[in-house]
Amino acid sequence: MISRAMFTNTTWNRYGDKISSLELCNFLNVNNKMLSYDILKERNHINFNVMEYLRIQTVIRQTISSHSHRLILTAAKIQDFLLKKRTRAKHFRLYLRESNYDISKCKPSKSRYEWCEETLNNTREARFYSLWNMNFFTMEIREFAFDLVNNRLKFNASKAKFLENFSASCVFCVKSLILPAQKETLKHFFLHCPISSRFFMEYFTDFLQNKPIQAEHYFALIGAPPELTYNNGLILNSEIILVNFFLVKCKKRRQLPILSNLHSFIAWNRDLFLNSSKYRNAWNTWNIWVD
Ligand SMILES: [Zn+2]
Repeated sequence: MISRAMFTNTTWNRYGDKISSLELCNFLNVNNKMLSYDILKERNHINFNVMEYLRIQTVIRQTISSHSHRLILTAAKIQDFLLKKRTRAKHFRLYLRESNYDISKCKPSKSRYEWCEETLNNTREARFYSLWNMNFFTMEIREFAFDLVNNRLKFNASKAKFLENFSASCVFCVKSLILPAQKETLKHFFLHCPISSRFFMEYFTDFLQNKPIQAEHYFALIGAPPELTYNNGLILNSEIILVNFFLVKCKKRRQLPILSNLHSFIAWNRDLFLNSSKYRNAWNTWNIWVD
């Protein structure tokens, strides 16, 4: 990256060997910024002239910007992320993998539990959070699950902030004439919207018939209870993602959800998932699980 051509003969004859052995870190301060002219000379004991410094600076800046993602990761400590005010999911991804999904400080997880007025449970959240990573789901569902667990799904309330003449009201509430319609936020849509909640409960009351657990509408945001075995949790969480996905799809089409359509949607997807041995094993366990 730094070449012979950038230096005068005088500098090269005196410092050529030293310059050749310099590494990127010799040009940067602790914040990964280029050192100033005087500090660079002093730190490396090389008497660059100003023109040489400017040439080096151009190359270093280009290198920093093209490798910024790597520089940030190695330079930043996890504590710095945790103390940030508006920490987002993306800041945690690396941390979560390395710390075996200790999500107790992850903002999107905390928010979902606060909305549900439930105490954050690591097992429950780790299972729900990792759904986007299940390879039996289609890419579309995986992306949806990822956006859902990271509170990144877009609802009318946030769209209305950017779009003129765009209504923030909940589509389902407006369509059902539940007026004045509430703002359509993630929290309203999955927790408080009478249409989605009723629909969710209708499906799961039936789905959990003969099983020793009770459906709760807040499962939509925090997933299956942690007492379930891994396999049973996987099946229930997969159903939750599918129902949520279906609801959001209906909302986008501005149509009220219809239960028979949901059943066909789920049956179609389940046939696909059953090709995976992981899902198939879990599904078999689920079917023999009774009260
Ligand atoms: Zn609503």
